[in-house]
Amino acid sequence: MLNRARRPPVPKDSDTISQATRIPRSEHSISRADISGGALKVLYTLKKAGFEAYLVGGGVRDLLLGREPKDFDVVTDAEPGAVRRLFRSARLIGRRFRLAHVRFGPEIIEVATFRGAIEDADEADRVSVNGRIVRDNVYGTTVEEDVWRRDFSVNSLYYDIRDFSVLDLTGGMADLEAGILRIIGDPVRRYREDPVRMLRAVRFAAKLGFRLGGETAAAIPACAPMLAEIPPARLYEEVLKLFLGGAAVQSFELLNHYDLFKYLFSESAARFDEDPLSPATRLVLQALANTDKRIQEEKPVTPAFLFAALLWPAVQKDSIAHANRGLTTMQAVDAAGMDVLARQVSQVSLPRRFSLAAREIWSLQPRLEQRRGKRASQLVGRPRFRAAYDFLLLRAEAGEDIADRADWWTKFQEMDDAGRKAALAGTGSRRRRRRRRRQPQAQP
Ligand code: ATP
Ligand code: MG
Repeated sequence: MLNRARRPPVPKDSDTISQATRIPRSEHSISRADISGGALKVLYTLKKAGFEAYLVGGGVRDLLLGREPKDFDVVTDAEPGAVRRLFRSARLIGRRFRLAHVRFGPEIIEVATFRGAIEDADEADRVSVNGRIVRDNVYGTTVEEDVWRRDFSVNSLYYDIRDFSVLDLTGGMADLEAGILRIIGDPVRRYREDPVRMLRAVRFAAKLGFRLGGETAAAIPACAPMLAEIPPARLYEEVLKLFLGGAAVQSFELLNHYDLFKYLFSESAARFDEDPLSPATRLVLQALANTDKRIQEEKPVTPAFLFAALLWPAVQKDSIAHANRGLTTMQAVDAAGMDVLARQVSQVSLPRRFSLAAREIWSLQPRLEQRRGKRASQLVGRPRFRAAYDFLLLRAEAGEDIADRADWWTKFQEMDDAGRKAALAGTGSRRRRRRRRRQPQAQP
């Protein structure tokens, strides 16, 4: 499967600065003390076995920016088989893009082999459909070949374990300093190869506070529809990275700015277009702001709640339609939740356990709105009660006319058994309430 490819022609594109610079250790800020033990072990082991080994991608980028990297990616001229032989804990993964995962306790280091030029690709190793690369296992021999398949200049800085220098082949250092996210090569061609790069552009710009380079941004409108070709499961992974990475609000704003949100959540996007200030659409922003806050406070976040919020504008619209056809509010919300999710999974799919949880959060909403009788105590005991209650608060915050109910539940939860009984006595069925009209109403 070895494919010794020729060096590809340097793409001619004014948006890409082409210059090769090696920044010696004394002139950059990456210290080995900031690189994880696992990553160092992989780099040194590869080097000792006679291979080239570099740290690349987000690890190098974030260290240079003084941020804590999320993970460390290694690239080498060793082929995946050779990597597996060097590390007992290595596992080969990926069909579209074959690489090795080397495990050190909880830490996983991703080890990729240099990729080579498209021109010399063997059909079995590099498969493309209408310019979209669906499999890329053409190995290259040099870092100069590898660099052209990376996405952005700031993601293509190579930290060389031989002398701790940083190799900059695409002007990544200058872009890092200027805060610019610039795609390498011709943007249209690169987006066509992999449309997810548009989402990655937005995600990195949001997370780093960067702006997109002129051509990197200009090509998006023409290429955006290509996102429809991406498998929904891959988009799910990308959606989590966009919204559970600590910069959800900014990601959302940039997605809207580049009109990409509709390729992820078309029905909710349509409601934003109709009325960006409706409570249902404001709820999305509020949920994303809360998500960022929770992540900053290191509190847990769940994809179920995130999706429940992102799809709420669609669910609400659908449930009004169902109610108009004669369903009760509860039936309407249940039916809408099911329908919206069934349509949504063709765009961005989510694992069943999360879609079930999202449905439960929605179906509890009308039940929480009623807050009557013995059922209130039963509801508090439901496993999804807390999430549904948080969702109710969110709806109230976003301006739905349910503030008094949200308030009632807040107080109800704080009460002891006797207090709850008294509170419920005042909110029983209509008939009971009528009978007790003369008694003082117990308010929580
Ligand atoms: P982070 O891990 O902080 O999200 P990252 O830049 O490390 O960001 P990864 O998805 O871990 O992103 O990928 C590692 C590197 O692999 C990237 O920096 C980039 O060079 C390359 N890469 C990843 N995905 C793509 C892609 N779809 N197209 C081109 N290059 C990619
Ligand atoms: Mg990474």
